[in-house]
Amino acid sequence: MKWTKTFIQTLRENPQDAEIDSHKLLVRAGICRKTASGLFTFMPLGIRTLRKIENIVREEMDAAGALEILMPALQPAELWQKTGRWDTMGANMFRLKDRAERMMAMGPTAEEEVTDLMTNAISSYRQLPVTVYQIQTKFRDETRPRFGLMRSKEFIMKDAYSFDTDAEGADKSYWTMYKAYERIFARCGLKATPVQADGGDMGDSMTHEFHALADAGEDGIASCPVGGYAANLERAERKFEPVADPDCPAFSEVHTPGAKTIEQVSAFMGVPGSAFVKSLVYSVDGKPVMVCVPGDRDVNDVKLKRFLGAQKVELAGFDMVLEAAGANAGSVGPVKPADGTLRIVADISLKFAKGRIVGANKDDYHLKDVDFTRDVKIAESDFADLIVCGAGDACPKCGKTMELKRGIEVGQVFKLGTKYTQAFNTVYKDEEANDKLCIMGCYGVGVTRTLQAVIEQSHDKDGIIWPASISPYQVVIDLLDPDDAEVVKVADELEAKLEAMGVDVIVDDRAERPGVKFKDADLIGFTVRAVVGRKGLDKGGIEIKRRSEDKSQMKIVAPEDALSAIADALA
Ligand code: ATP
Ligand code: MG
Repeated sequence: MKWTKTFIQTLRENPQDAEIDSHKLLVRAGICRKTASGLFTFMPLGIRTLRKIENIVREEMDAAGALEILMPALQPAELWQKTGRWDTMGANMFRLKDRAERMMAMGPTAEEEVTDLMTNAISSYRQLPVTVYQIQTKFRDETRPRFGLMRSKEFIMKDAYSFDTDAEGADKSYWTMYKAYERIFARCGLKATPVQADGGDMGDSMTHEFHALADAGEDGIASCPVGGYAANLERAERKFEPVADPDCPAFSEVHTPGAKTIEQVSAFMGVPGSAFVKSLVYSVDGKPVMVCVPGDRDVNDVKLKRFLGAQKVELAGFDMVLEAAGANAGSVGPVKPADGTLRIVADISLKFAKGRIVGANKDDYHLKDVDFTRDVKIAESDFADLIVCGAGDACPKCGKTMELKRGIEVGQVFKLGTKYTQAFNTVYKDEEANDKLCIMGCYGVGVTRTLQAVIEQSHDKDGIIWPASISPYQVVIDLLDPDDAEVVKVADELEAKLEAMGVDVIVDDRAERPGVKFKDADLIGFTVRAVVGRKGLDKGGIEIKRRSEDKSQMKIVAPEDALSAIADALA
């Protein structure tokens, strides 16, 4: 392919709204153009990489025995009403009416749609197990679309769904997909780590997210440098044995005027944050619950929600706090709150805590010497793991100190059990002709997010560094003297031979200065660059360099050796 015959537009300036390198490069290298907030057009160069990623995904899904289908992106509301998610998806779901006033959704995912499909398609155990997948556009009205393709309103997802007769089979399907995901990301040149994740609405069910580790990642991951434990901060646990603090005298009031936050009170009283207990009133499905955690730790809302079996947990508003505790947020504590029946839950580390400082449920006052075994009313079973665990905590597996990493969630595998098949009554007849519910799993890869995650992991100050497997063109031939017939001939021959070998190649035949061509080649990040010019040929040949290498590693080879040198560089 000749550069002058395609439509490549690189930009010098970074897009104004781009916060992270990969977003800047995505646009500057001519991969994508923004249409509107959270909406992107794939340009001719970008489509090539996108299709290559899709093909890798497709090949690995096929190899894993999954069957490709394509379901409508436009989905009828009734399907979502069957599981109740029409209501719980909230503003994240794009909704519209057709001309007959029927409510529809632009699919943010497709569990309902596929379950409905399979409910009608499956009748006998002989058809099972079966895994189907599609590569389809998804729509989510994200609160904050940002970071380019990372969090967009419209994106391409590969979503797969498995249907099994029993838990053992479902387990097998799960791990088959898990392994396929490892291969997909490896083939895309992405370092993706599987991490334990929270089951969300599905409760405690098994799920792993695949994270591309990168500083720009939106998710925190607690990771053990030794034991291989890695978990999203939403669910990360720690090894912890509550130990009894030394006994303390009876609690007494301390006047703490104007000090509201732990930092302020701790500075005022001259004691460390860990001596405090943070008490927060939450609204749990509309009812108040007080949550106590050590002063230097944070409540994990996801764990809290799961522990309480709630639909929605959020910090309580002003009025609810006042009514529940009898004081304003900064002075709230677990000792005799105004509402004597208020449920109080606490992190497990406070079980035998003594000599702690808590809010006095009286504005501008705190209590010191509070003993959690003596002064508070918390049910034994309401001590639980409720804090965000991570860096500095002990690995729940081996006890070694964990580290914090940041990750971009590029995929997720999920055991769904019968949540959906129950709602749709997706049954098969077993060998005795009894109706049994299918057991499901779902498996997503963010195809467009993966593309950008590769850029985030693989770039330098000059531009993208594409792995050969997904580079828009694997090789760029920088033709420096497009008016010199002999030079053109060498470049054309090399192009033809590479194409015959099945290598994707583009010849930069523009009437531009060499510097411009080199800059663009580096910015776009083609895996290998071959420079063909008069000067080079006179001196002995063609310059060949991997994008990932620096100038000192450049090879100069005779035209007849160029083919094998490029093949080596691509390998
Ligand atoms: P996130 O937590 O990042 O919002 P999610 O867990 O809600 O993502 P899933 O429902 O698991 O997303 O969707 C499967 C995959 O689709 C994700 O792993 C991610 O790679 C991708 N994805 C989800 N939301 C978006 C988005 N707004 N833009 C681009 N890709 C997305
Ligand atoms: Mg997810």
